[in-house]
Amino acid sequence: MNRSVKFATPFYAFIVIIIINILLVFPANALTILIDPGHGGDDVGAKTILPSRRLANSKLKNDHIITLFEKDLTLTISKKLQEKLKEKDYSAFLTRSFDHNVSLEERANMAEKIKADLFISVHINSDFKKGAHGFETYYLNNHNDSAVKKLENVENQKLTATSHAVSVASASASTSTNSNNDPIISKILIDLVIEKTVEKSIKLAKQIHSEIDKTVHKKHRAQNRKVRPGLFYVLALAKRPSVLLEVGFISNQEEANRLNDYNFQEDYVTAVVSGIDKFIANDQK
Ligand SMILES: [Zn+2]
Repeated sequence: MNRSVKFATPFYAFIVIIIINILLVFPANALTILIDPGHGGDDVGAKTILPSRRLANSKLKNDHIITLFEKDLTLTISKKLQEKLKEKDYSAFLTRSFDHNVSLEERANMAEKIKADLFISVHINSDFKKGAHGFETYYLNNHNDSAVKKLENVENQKLTATSHAVSVASASASTSTNSNNDPIISKILIDLVIEKTVEKSIKLAKQIHSEIDKTVHKKHRAQNRKVRPGLFYVLALAKRPSVLLEVGFISNQEEANRLNDYNFQEDYVTAVVSGIDKFIANDQK
């Protein structure tokens, strides 16, 4: 054995040890997922008033009236989702971890900063028809569905006036009415992001939705309202495979109670994690 071989052997052993350590620190699942709890601060999102006796796990007496806010439900559900993703060795982060205002651009910028692989926005639906209920899963794409356009107007409201992502607003650019002088996001940007991400986003949405359907639909009798395309600015600005979850309708009293229920929340986020697992397993084939 010459001198260079003698020198090389411990060197290669050292490299192998380093690689093993890196693999142990960064397990196979080490994808970075950014979870976005919708709304926050003075943007409370949708809300409802419930007598406390309708609330699951409530210890309050019947004469109490409780106001449920979308911003609180989205935060609770998102934190559970983060916890369960971490248990599976994903790197999971939140766009907000407490009750405060975060603009849609700041949420999306965070995705860039942490180099998120996937972006999951969590929202709660509402409708003037009190009977409307069920779960929907959205991905970014163009469409002509007037019901979805109404929802977009609600969820797209919080772009800041100083948006840098907004520039070329063509007349046909947005399906939003833009009634409160919020800037209109560029159609060019949206189309580019759709082109880049839609294939993966549809697969992700379908996998997550099908897992929610398997457990939450049957066990909690929540209605499956399908996977749908939507033009949500936060998904466009995030510029990566993404979904927006509408967990259920706060405007429906029975469902508002369900949304606030520990077991429902546990089952819902477990299904989302399982959907992400399956999406990744298929994506890596
Ligand atoms: Zn919302």
